Amino acid sequence: ATLQGGAAPDQSLGTDDAAAVAKIRLESQLREALDGGRLQMHLQPLLDIPTGKIAGYEALIRWDHPERGPISPLEFITLAEETSLIVPVGQFMLQEAISALVTMRSRGMAQLPFLSINVSARQLREADLIQSLLERLGDAALPASAVKLEITESQVLDYPHTAEVLDACRAAGIRVALDDFGTGFSNLSHLSALAFDTVKIDQAFLRGVEGSSRAAMMLDAIVGLVRATGADALAEGVETPEQLQTLRRLGVRYAQGYLIGKPEPLARALQAQGAA
Ligand code: C2E
Ligand code: CA
Ligand code: CA
Ligand code: CA
Repeated sequence: ATLQGGAAPDQSLGTDDAAAVAKIRLESQLREALDGGRLQMHLQPLLDIPTGKIAGYEALIRWDHPERGPISPLEFITLAEETSLIVPVGQFMLQEAISALVTMRSRGMAQLPFLSINVSARQLREADLIQSLLERLGDAALPASAVKLEITESQVLDYPHTAEVLDACRAAGIRVALDDFGTGFSNLSHLSALAFDTVKIDQAFLRGVEGSSRAAMMLDAIVGLVRATGADALAEGVETPEQLQTLRRLGVRYAQGYLIGKPEPLARALQAQGAA
């Protein structure tokens, strides 16, 4: 079977072939979306629980597909990681984050919030990631403390390279968060061997904490573990006031979730903060 531009996959293809064809199409559409400026950055607020203020935002990528509508980043980020498209896509997010910070500063926000940016393993392996980030920050006259990089445990396992990158970040003043803690690769020795500024506790651990003392006990233990490493804990997926109350009681520093705010475009995030 030959590939016709834009045509539906040939009926005679097997399901594996059809899936491969769909993937190739999606990949070229993602490339077009990147070049055509159809990718967007949304920002989700991060609440500093002790002060009750929005301390920062997580930058989350959005793609409004021309035929399918919004596609989950879980789908297209994975695809981008399989090819090397994640590198330019990641560069796009870094650039968007920096321009958002410049806008925030120009709106005279009393204290500049930090932006927390997801970084894929493939990006972390780019030799000049940190250097080019520092250059962009310098060009915009922004402090290194204005960005935080979120990495996942699977990346932490890429020793000793990750350790070197994290050291370079810390030396430059860029903070680092361990994302999705408690899921997937839960090798505790890596948590103790590497210094993180923030550890993001996966939303799975927040489910049921209002009702069940068992779930609350688990969360308490995880928060204790995070604190023992000297990092601040952040709880993901906070949806109810009761959950937030539990987090406050456990001494968790940051809360992120629909209760505090959904991911939205910069303009709306600024409006919500009275800085539009
Ligand atoms: P993540 O890093 O764990 O991001 C948090 C996800 O939880 C986001 O999903 C967010 O919209 C969602 N979320 C936030 N609050 C709540 C809540 O209260 N309840 C529930 N049920 N969900 C909540 P999203 O935006 O669909 O992103 C999915 C994943 O895609 C992210 O998970 C991250 O791993 C990846 N991703 C997103 N943007 C980027 C990016 O720019 N670069 C890279 N490398 N990965 C990205
Ligand atoms: Ca994240
Ligand atoms: Ca996460
Ligand atoms: Ca997640």
